[in-house]
Amino acid sequence: MIPVPGFEGQTVAVFGLGRSGLTAARALRAGGANPVLWDDSVSSRMQAEAEGFELRDLTTADWADFAALVLSPGAPLTHPAPHWTVDRAREAGIEIIGDLELFARAVAALPADQRPKVIGITGTNGKSTTTALVGWVLKQAGMTVHVGGNIGIGVLALPAPTPEAVYVIECSSYQLDLTTSFAPDVAILTNISPDHLDRHGDMAGYVAAKARIFANPKPGRGSAAMVSIDDVASYWLADDVCDDWSLACVSTRLQGDMTSQPLNAFVSGFGFRASDGVLTKEADGVEEIANLALARSLPGRHNAQNAAFAYGAVTRLGVPHDAAVEGLLSFPGLAHRMEHVGTLSRVRFINDSKATNADAARQALSSYDPIFWIAGGRAKAGGIDDLADLFPRVTEAFLIGEAAGPFAAALGETPHRVSGDMASAVAAAAKAAAATGRDEVVLLSPAAASFDQFPDFEARGEAFRAAVLSLGAAPPEVRP
Ligand code: ADP
Repeated sequence: MIPVPGFEGQTVAVFGLGRSGLTAARALRAGGANPVLWDDSVSSRMQAEAEGFELRDLTTADWADFAALVLSPGAPLTHPAPHWTVDRAREAGIEIIGDLELFARAVAALPADQRPKVIGITGTNGKSTTTALVGWVLKQAGMTVHVGGNIGIGVLALPAPTPEAVYVIECSSYQLDLTTSFAPDVAILTNISPDHLDRHGDMAGYVAAKARIFANPKPGRGSAAMVSIDDVASYWLADDVCDDWSLACVSTRLQGDMTSQPLNAFVSGFGFRASDGVLTKEADGVEEIANLALARSLPGRHNAQNAAFAYGAVTRLGVPHDAAVEGLLSFPGLAHRMEHVGTLSRVRFINDSKATNADAARQALSSYDPIFWIAGGRAKAGGIDDLADLFPRVTEAFLIGEAAGPFAAALGETPHRVSGDMASAVAAAAKAAAATGRDEVVLLSPAAASFDQFPDFEARGEAFRAAVLSLGAAPPEVRP
């Protein structure tokens, strides 16, 4: 756990006692603060009390007592409407912060030569893969690495800082919205496409939240930014940060492609191009970094992009080229992201349950052809309309959940049927795929949220895996 200094002897209100809230309370207490906790849920309050925390009903409390409000990222700061604790904190004139900000302050409180290195990773898609990949490569290179944040372990639950350690932190837009001083040594923005607009009001609000990862550059371009320049919002952010950050651009577009941008368009004049399985570094000339076709678990152009970020970040922290490439190639991959879960005669089953929006599903649909596609759940804005150019790859779609109707309408002439639930979809897709007698792929890449039928995307992916294995499919020898 990371003790948080700066609030010694002060009372800090903590609202939202999920994983990150309770950890924040522990970290504040360890730093000498007096956290008082509240949550709408009685069972969460009981758990806090069992740990010896003071509960205080924030609906009736005197907010003049508090030095700050530590808010759960699950509670809205601005949209659709500020949470009531936000209104109360503003009336009281106290700051509203989250666990990532507390982490930033704990690091900043150390003498400069005692501070660990911090890599922050945000973006609409690819955060978790890039975070895990960076962590893996650093670990393989023998460094002391702590991976957490929006992935796995909450940031304040990670081990206390030591000067040689590297923290690799996945940052959600909600967490970034609750920071003011987060100052990573390397800040990565993987991409931006519309997502979570209900919580950020509009695209401008969402982009502004992501941009906060670049709010605190070290003087003299002492920190590194790595930004994808394939979408307009990220491109303009790269343009914004290049004066104050040492910038490396990343593109998956082929050089000479009508839509490709020169990677030396910005001050720093270098970048990484990740396309067709080859990762190159471009400055004055082009240098091949790695042939990702040899990687154990980085299929697709999007993973080449993730590999580019990882290579740039780890080499910036001193990992030699050969060790960095070796780490990329040996990465075992993450569950629920284009994960091969089983094979039944000539049919391979791929679990991409993490594809909760159309943009993420595009990556998987682009990586296989032909496809027996299982999709649906709770649809996001725009549904699957943007994927129409990939429908010719779909032999047949099997639709589940609330989105089955709208997705059926969007698919039009593309063969599809409404299967309803996961087990029926897997059984029907497996039968149809086996009937061709050829090598086939059954792909779960839902392009929708899971919450209509499952607690989260992990549960959805596990339901897929269970259905596949119950048909008698053999799991791959090494499960990533
Ligand atoms: P996040 O943590 O940002 O949600 P993940 O790494 O968990 O991202 O991947 C989520 C989904 O997005 C997966 O379905 C994957 O296929 C897709 N994806 C992964 N990396 C990228 C990328 N760089 N660009 C676009 N999509 C990606």
